[in-house]
Amino acid sequence: MAAKKKTWRITVAMQCKECGKTGYFTNINKATTPKLELKKYCNKDKKRTLHASREKLK
Ligand SMILES: [Zn+2]
Repeated sequence: MAAKKKTWRITVAMQCKECGKTGYFTNINKATTPKLELKKYCNKDKKRTLHASREKLK
């Protein structure tokens, strides 16, 4: 194995702030981006809503 680097990249779920549906998964760097909010299209709301990152539990 190469250099032993601590990895801060984690998989998070992007959860719609309006309906609570989790529609997207993405990777973030926890060291630089502890909290991520994005405008994403929500399939349930049929429009673009604010999605907040939520750490995947499993
Ligand atoms: Zn929604």
